[in-house]
Amino acid sequence: MPQRQVDNRVLPVPRGRVLGGCSSINGMVYFRGHAREYDEWQQPGWSYADLLPYFQRLENYEAAHTPQRQRGGPVNVIDIPKPNPLVGRFLAAAIPLACHAAPISTEAIRKVSARGRRRSATAGASPE
Ligand SMILES: Cc1cc2nc3c(=O)[nH]c(=O)nc-3n(C[C@H](O)[C@H](O)[C@H](O)COP(=O)(O)OP(=O)(O)OC[C@H]3O[C@@H](n4cnc5c(N)ncnc54)[C@H](O)[C@@H]3O)c2cc1C
Repeated sequence: MPQRQVDNRVLPVPRGRVLGGCSSINGMVYFRGHAREYDEWQQPGWSYADLLPYFQRLENYEAAHTPQRQRGGPVNVIDIPKPNPLVGRFLAAAIPLACHAAPISTEAIRKVSARGRRRSATAGASPE
């Protein structure tokens, strides 16, 4: 349906009406969100510290090397093997502009939910 607010363009809104839902068609970017954003909600039970155990429980981060990242969860997470060099340059340009209220985590932008060359979708990655 044409949208008046965007010059009557028709915007695609893809939905994953398949097993695994949108996780079967999404971009596979794996991103927890910035800790400060959860904390700023100021909702009991929704601080980053409250949520961290759930993030840790759901992921199997192949390159886990800090206590913050875990192995053993149902969603396989890998670092992008060959990140596009433009991403680093984009971040280097954006950070001094402080275009985001919270510090930008360059570390998080390079992760995808995948196992090798296959996606790690909800279907097949459900916790026991
Ligand atoms: C194109 C695209 C790219 C995205 N990229 C990313 C990304 O890179 N990283 C990221 O983290 N997130 C991404 N997302 C968002 C992420 O995929 C979704 O937020 C997430 O999958 C939502 O999960 P859900 O289980 O809440 O809902 P859904 O995945 O929408 O699952 C709902 C399921 O219910 C089924 N269903 C709906 N109605 C009925 C009914 N009446 N009866 C029976 N079944 C029904 C649907 O068919 C579907 O299988 C993307 C989303 C899209 C669409």
